[in-house]
Formats: sequence, structure tokens, C-alpha cells
Amino acid sequence: MHQLSLTRMRFVPFGFIRRLIPSVIWSFDTPDRVFLTFDDGPTPEVTEWVLGQLAAYDAKATFFCLGKNAELHPHLHRMIVEAGHKVGNHTYSHQKGWEQGLERYVEDVDFANQILRSDLLRPPYGRITPAQVKALGERYNIIMWDVLSRDYSRYVSPQSCVRNTTRYIRPGSIIVFHDSNKAFRNLRYALPRVLDYISRAGLKCSAIDL
Ligand SMILES: [Zn+2]
Repeated sequence: MHQLSLTRMRFVPFGFIRRLIPSVIWSFDTPDRVFLTFDDGPTPEVTEWVLGQLAAYDAKATFFCLGKNAELHPHLHRMIVEAGHKVGNHTYSHQKGWEQGLERYVEDVDFANQILRSDLLRPPYGRITPAQVKALGERYNIIMWDVLSRDYSRYVSPQSCVRNTTRYIRPGSIIVFHDSNKAFRNLRYALPRVLDYISRAGLKCSAIDL
């Protein structure tokens, strides 16, 4: 992550579209909102369950889909959009930016975008080189996070997944969960509790729509 420290910016005003100086967004400057994000889907059953939870809390979120999964499950892609959430690009095949040449990486992102049609990009593993930021940042808002639930880790208990999240949430936070099979053990425990925490804190969950 060190490569990103130079482009790290906090307190980005929400609604500010960065086009002139490509860089990376870690959180927003909003007094009353937080931004839930779900990576690696859409995944049958898991994504549907997430959509149900969000609906129960009148929460909107951003789903950083893999192009290959959206291609496999077009009905889930459609359900996300029709429920009023935002779809973001998480590459076609979960590319690691640091291990991938510029041209191949850009190609994979753009290929995914033929399906996903989004102006938001989240690099898998948060790994993207400055050259890749430069090449893609003119066309995509590159969205990282400031709160990582670690729901995907088998070393993290459902309870600590809740703590990892609620301890660091503040207005403007971008929070990462995963609508994947691997994360579901933790997610199904943590998500309703985190939604409850956010709502008790008087914050609203919005989709990232710049
Ligand atoms: Zn991912």
C-alpha cells in the first residue's frame, strides 16, 4: 500500500468528480452519511441476502462487481441496479495491479466495463500502481476505503468482524464487505449488526454516486 501514500487524500467532498488530477478516494467529507461497499460479487444467494438486509434498513450501497461474475449472473447484476444501488468495476478477473502490466490491467478493467458500465473502479486488494492510476483515473473514480471488515478472513470471527467495522466508522467512511461465499460466514452475522449500529449513530447509508 506504500505506493499509494502520495496519492492518499482524505475528506474528499462528496459529489466532487476528479478528472484533472487522477488520484484515489479513501473517504468522503459528509456529516451524515457512510458508504457501504460489497466486493467480488455478484454471488447467488449471498448477494440476494445482502439486498434483503439493505432493504430492511432502507440502506443504499455500492457493489464492486467482478465482470466475470456479472456475466455469469446477469439477473443479480440487474437486481442490484433495480434496487437503487450503484454498481462499480472490480476488474473482470480480480487482477492484482502490482503484478500486472499496464496494458493488460487497463484491458481487463475496460473489458469488465462493457458489462458493468460504471465510472467507479475499486482495484482488487487495493493494489494499483501510480501508472495504472494515471491511465485509469481519467475515466474512473478510483475508490478505496477507510474501514475494512476483514469478513473474508477465516482467522476473523464474526464478532471481531463487527468490532473491526464499528470501531472505525465515522461520517464519510467507505466500508468494505464482500458478497462472496468465502465471506458469508462472517457477513451474515456482521452486516445486520453494523447496519443497526450505523442507524443508531444517526447515519445514513448511501451509494457512491459521483
Ligand atoms: Zn476483491
